Amino acid sequence: MPAMAMQLEGLRKIVQEVDAAPSLHEALEVMVRLVAAAMEAEVCSVYLLDEREQRFILMASKGLNATAVGEVSLAKSEGLVGLVGQREEIINLDDASSHPRFRYLPETGEERYNAFLGVPIMYRRKVMGVMVVQHHERRAFSEAAESFLVTLCAQLSGAIAHAHAIGTIDVFRKPSSTPSPKSFNGIPGAGGIAIGRAVVFYPPADLDLVPDRQAENINEELSHLQQAVIAVRNDIRELDEKMQDALVSDERALFGVYLRMLDDNALPAEISAEIRNGSWAQGAVRHVIEAHSVHFAQMEDEYLRERASDLRDLGRRILSRLQANDTHHREINEQSILIGEEITTAALVELPLDNIAAIVTTEGAVNSHMVIVARALGIPTVVGVTELPVTSLDDAELIVDAHQGRVYVHPVRRLRQRYREIQREEQQAAKDLKAYETRDATTPDGYSIPLYVNTGLMIDVIRGVQRNAQGVGLYRSEIPFMLRDRFPGEEEQRLIYRQQLSHFADKPVVMRTLDIGADKDLPYFSIKEDNSALGWRGIRFTLDHPEIFSAQIRAMLKASIGLNNLHILLPMVTSLSEVEEALYLLERSLAEVQEEEQVKILAPRVGVMVEVPSILMQMEDIASCVDFFSVGSNDLTQYLLAVDRNNPRVASLYNHFHPAVLRTMNWLVGQCKRLGKPISICGEMAGDPLSAVLLMAMGFNALSMSSSNILKVRKAICNIPMADAQKLLDEILPMDNPAVIRSWVERYFSKHQLQDLLRPASPKPSN
Ligand code: PEP
Ligand code: MG
Repeated sequence: MPAMAMQLEGLRKIVQEVDAAPSLHEALEVMVRLVAAAMEAEVCSVYLLDEREQRFILMASKGLNATAVGEVSLAKSEGLVGLVGQREEIINLDDASSHPRFRYLPETGEERYNAFLGVPIMYRRKVMGVMVVQHHERRAFSEAAESFLVTLCAQLSGAIAHAHAIGTIDVFRKPSSTPSPKSFNGIPGAGGIAIGRAVVFYPPADLDLVPDRQAENINEELSHLQQAVIAVRNDIRELDEKMQDALVSDERALFGVYLRMLDDNALPAEISAEIRNGSWAQGAVRHVIEAHSVHFAQMEDEYLRERASDLRDLGRRILSRLQANDTHHREINEQSILIGEEITTAALVELPLDNIAAIVTTEGAVNSHMVIVARALGIPTVVGVTELPVTSLDDAELIVDAHQGRVYVHPVRRLRQRYREIQREEQQAAKDLKAYETRDATTPDGYSIPLYVNTGLMIDVIRGVQRNAQGVGLYRSEIPFMLRDRFPGEEEQRLIYRQQLSHFADKPVVMRTLDIGADKDLPYFSIKEDNSALGWRGIRFTLDHPEIFSAQIRAMLKASIGLNNLHILLPMVTSLSEVEEALYLLERSLAEVQEEEQVKILAPRVGVMVEVPSILMQMEDIASCVDFFSVGSNDLTQYLLAVDRNNPRVASLYNHFHPAVLRTMNWLVGQCKRLGKPISICGEMAGDPLSAVLLMAMGFNALSMSSSNILKVRKAICNIPMADAQKLLDEILPMDNPAVIRSWVERYFSKHQLQDLLRPASPKPSN
């Protein structure tokens, strides 16, 4: 086995080459060839599990008979390969044929090999396949060989899953000209179902995200390219001239390299060839630059490796010139399904929202800011669909089942029909819910709890009023900040806040001070941090910028004149001193505004968000200086469970039915009762009917939620007696498993004809 440094270098090379392979078959070919060489093994083979047939298929081999590839297969529990898959463990034998599970496959010619090392290829806890190395000598593989193969399989499993996903054909079956149906799993963000066509959302000048698209007019695309190349050449010449005095000619050599790459016979010729093959110009630039940069990145020579970044820079320059003249950015027509890697709140709200039937992203998680906004807008959203081959899906037909977090690409007719039926059922259920628009949230045994709305956009206010919200429990003041290209001024803010306050004139409106940082990025004030959830956010930012904080408070106070319904809420508080500083700034602003406006302004009630677990240990201290508490269960869940709310890899661990979360909520209510302070909750947990009834039973004073959830929560409350809710709570609090807790509550809902408040069951896909 090669030395450690060699192993690492070998691993890096293999992973890179596999990543660069254009198809799964080629990736596997490369893999077996390189692994056999790196491990000095006589045989290296990859078997992939065909889920439909429940068989391991020999997909690639270096060393076994080439004719066996694609032909030989083993039942899921057959042979040593089956054993590796079954046990999900390494098997390392010096004499494979003497093992009771050995199964001789004459087509492969493997009788010549004695030693066998098999490693499962696992992806997201599932066995995708098995990699096997073999050699003739009757000697087990070393421990170093084992760990080399394990590391490699762990690194390659994602690439295999991805290659599997982007292939337009089913890798196990014969190619066909019609695109085959596929489905992908993600995380349900905002519930609902949509059937429509994909529109790829790609940020400007981002090479990686340019979608594949057919050229509508090849000559036009060629001429766009030519103009873009001429423009970039001019840019480079200008740069070169500008730098004449600052850089010596050696240092400016790069510009010469760029110009040579832009020679008609160099990159432009290759891009033109792609266009002539049918691609649009932007896609052709992406393909050519990707192919070259992979090649450069694999070079042994470090200098040449670094040229990959120059090439990408050049590609970006051509792309941005093409995009500047882009007349056919696909329009967002009715029933468009927006798909992309990541879509920010600011980018989303600029789009024609009425036409967006659904949103699907490969990044992100259930309580990211964009999802919260999408939920308020009632747009079905699935996030964290990590395997979705975004760039190859432009204009593809999709079904988005945002209840289950599933996306179907090129769905079969029967599935489409079934989903159309479900859509009709949902429309009917929405009509039935309308009956709850005018009712109060009062249980059959007479217990009432106020339901508030969470706002940010004006549409939330309108829907909140329409659905009879008893006030605003959380106004996310950062949202209007996100929709501008600079910090809004005091008067600009006053007008925005006045709208919010006056629509709920006789009801409480809880305005949260600016809560930016982490995933709430302002387009004009980006905070880039390695660990942003633990970084400069919420009150930590505003106390460092008292000029921004005070302007906001002054605007809120001025907006409340004559209405007197303003409550102020402080986000991301960790320590008492932060509250004291904020109160000091608030008092100062109040005095100033009264003086300036010559009116008496009622001091707003002030509350603290319970989002950081440190607050749990300081309830008494903080209660002594504020009027109320509001639980931000989105962040509190993330910090209690140490699970990033935006990371799709750990999304399954982020769960508000976790006993630690439920018991904390219950404990908090007890504390607030003892301290005589009201406590409400404004995280997404309050808008889930299943958890909302538990929160009511705990004794929360109010629940605040997205307008899209108000009617469902109200229906649950109107149909569940408080006595039953309390019994349910007593039953689930001692339970230790989030999934069991959830299904326990679901069972109650089903038994009491409230199934329509649960996510509908997914139809059995027939693809
Ligand atoms: C929360 O954390 O629960 C909350 C309401 O705030 P946001 O989601 O805006 O961070
Ligand atoms: Mg929060």
